Amino acid sequence: MEKILKKDRLSDWVAKLDSYNVYAPAFGDEGWVYEAVEDAKEAELDFPRTIHSPKNLVFPQREVLFSFKQEKGQQPELTQTIPDPDPFVVFGVRACDAKGLTLTDVVFSKEFEDPYYWARRNKGVFVGLACNEPPSPACFCLSVEGSPHGEAGMDAQMTDLGDRYYVKALTGKGKEIVKLGGALFKDAAAKDKKDMEKAHALAEKHPQRAINGLKGVEDKLRSMFEASDFWDDGSKACIQCGICTFLCPTCHCFDMNDEVSSSAPLKGERVRTWDTCQFPEFTMHSSGHNPRPDNASRLRQRVCHKFQYFFENHGEHQCTGCGRCVSECPVGIDIVATVNGASDYDG
Ligand code: SF4
Ligand code: SF4
Repeated sequence: MEKILKKDRLSDWVAKLDSYNVYAPAFGDEGWVYEAVEDAKEAELDFPRTIHSPKNLVFPQREVLFSFKQEKGQQPELTQTIPDPDPFVVFGVRACDAKGLTLTDVVFSKEFEDPYYWARRNKGVFVGLACNEPPSPACFCLSVEGSPHGEAGMDAQMTDLGDRYYVKALTGKGKEIVKLGGALFKDAAAKDKKDMEKAHALAEKHPQRAINGLKGVEDKLRSMFEASDFWDDGSKACIQCGICTFLCPTCHCFDMNDEVSSSAPLKGERVRTWDTCQFPEFTMHSSGHNPRPDNASRLRQRVCHKFQYFFENHGEHQCTGCGRCVSECPVGIDIVATVNGASDYDG
């Protein structure tokens, strides 16, 4: 299903999606973030890159897994808290972030199907916006088998053609929301398709950062596990803030804790919160031994997880080239430069 929507009718389409919660990029105190659209007239798609990816909408930073209660001398009672969200639509999903969802899908389903993740994921309709030019100077999707107009992970894709959007419905969920737009859409004509293809081809010509030679990088990294001089040099400046992983659309590590609200009777909640391999405590054993005791071993873990281990386990690299970890690292640690440095390393 390929349609045309006039740009000034976007808010009318959003207004017709009243059976969904709608999210779209909005400019707030932090910058561009996905926010619930309260007034359809406010929906806009003229934005650069959002600070967070839409991963947060399916895998929130803090989530209650179950609550518990235990009276003295009794068995504990557990109450599950699997969410049951209303259906929702997310507009303005970039190709790198939509591809990120396909990678977190693998993590949350391959060995164990995570009901909390899928309760949200299955209710979401992800409407992509092709990049006509890189939204950030740190972008490098073309180097990691992505594309500014990639469709993976999207239910529909919009392409900005100046005065109108070319809208492709890619899944049943995508078709459903286009159908709700009714007469706001007209069928795409041959000229519209040609304009869309031209915009996509032009987008690929914009310069991006580049990883030189992704093919075989996993073998090179495997051979560099003990290259401590390389990992030391690259990680000295790290202040262990975790921003590179918390903003990444594919990072998914978490911790679980019991938050006790009362001791008599014992009451509380088991909560999972994002965690990161960049925190020194992440691998701390209760014995006090830490198998990743320094910045070097933690940088090696982040880079090797994305470019070696994930590939070995799932046949794909776990980086979509969004560039967030590059542009937001407060000390300028750059995964593109690190991977290129590893490729060139002959120590
Ligand atoms: S590793 Fe960096 S560039 Fe790659 S997807 Fe994560 S945040 Fe984006
Ligand atoms: S964002 Fe930079 S400083 Fe912060 S943990 Fe990541 S590499 Fe270290």
